[in-house]
Amino acid sequence: MGGDLTLTSVTKRFGAFTAVDDLDLRVPEGSFFALLGPSGCGKTTTLRMVAGLDEPTTGTVLLGDTDITRLKPYKRPVNTVFQSYALFPHLTVADNVAFGLKRRGRRKIDDEVAEMLALVELQQLAKRRPGQLSGGQQQRVALARALINQPEVLLLDEPLGALDLKLRRQMQIELKRIQTEVGLTFVHVTHDQEEAMTMADTVAVMNEGRIEQLGPPEELYESPATTFVANFLGQSNLVAGSVTGTSGDLVHVEVHGARVFAGRSRSRVTEGDVWAGVRPEKVYLAGPGEEAADEVNSLRGGVVSDVSFVGVSTQYLVRMAWDQELTVFEQNTGARKRFRPGDQVDLHWRPEHTFLLDATQD
Ligand code: ATP
Repeated sequence: MGGDLTLTSVTKRFGAFTAVDDLDLRVPEGSFFALLGPSGCGKTTTLRMVAGLDEPTTGTVLLGDTDITRLKPYKRPVNTVFQSYALFPHLTVADNVAFGLKRRGRRKIDDEVAEMLALVELQQLAKRRPGQLSGGQQQRVALARALINQPEVLLLDEPLGALDLKLRRQMQIELKRIQTEVGLTFVHVTHDQEEAMTMADTVAVMNEGRIEQLGPPEELYESPATTFVANFLGQSNLVAGSVTGTSGDLVHVEVHGARVFAGRSRSRVTEGDVWAGVRPEKVYLAGPGEEAADEVNSLRGGVVSDVSFVGVSTQYLVRMAWDQELTVFEQNTGARKRFRPGDQVDLHWRPEHTFLLDATQD
């Protein structure tokens, strides 16, 4: 088979409920693709249709040019790694990894098993049993066991969900390294935006059975297409406004009596009612008398309502005159003046960091 994985108009209904709704998706061969979305949005169902564990109600699943929509799971060159490792407790690590090959009657597999154990860095633990391994090590065994079958597509369903945060972060880097090394197509399901952005070349954000936006992580973060994506990927300040005109590359927006500018390339709309959005780390605070640099957007007359220290940065909540609280992250470099609750502040940021969303669609 080989080639891109393509889902076309895929719908999955369970009775009257539509779990996946007319989904179109293309996963380029050899890429690390993440399906990201909140619980119940249809990620796992999508993955199960690729694995052959669920059949689409309508639509097709292709691998390269081959239609695999109704192919039995074991006939697909696809393997899945789940959150529950489902290792055989009575077998050693090496035998767990060898299991798939042995079942297919293969002999002389020691080299392949050793190669897989080296890939996931478990050579030293080959003789142990799963009960003698940590969660992260067990997950590596599950990964090696899936990869030894040489699938063309590896599906990962919240594989790091059971690990603690630190181990999770380590395994994210590991998984990415392994994917680069083996060069297979990985489709990774997660509800953790940081995880998806750390690992994937392409992220598809799902909501209620549909894809809201698909693209490289930076693009989704810097130019979200919808308020859902803006809020699901990190934090956003979204201020209601309306477009008053354009000039050159800039769109002019009036927000609560102030004028701010947005770049056209980040603007989903260039007229009418909009949400003007800016990420908290793109905003900086200044005291009321302080002059801002030219060509910045300014919202004046805020009052700091909360300050929290978050290690590398400080998070400020700032209440605006129109009774909206905006969030600002400032790096703790020691160079900036710190503000306290009750202080009057102005918010400044560069026009190109503003994104505009259509407010009439929400
Ligand atoms: P989570 O992150 O919680 O696993 P998800 O995005 O993977 O969520 P799915 O497991 O794909 O979501 O489920 C999507 C929706 O379809 C949910 O509302 C779920 O209750 C429903 N659903 C899934 N499988 C079935 C089934 N076999 N019968 C009925 N409804 C189902």
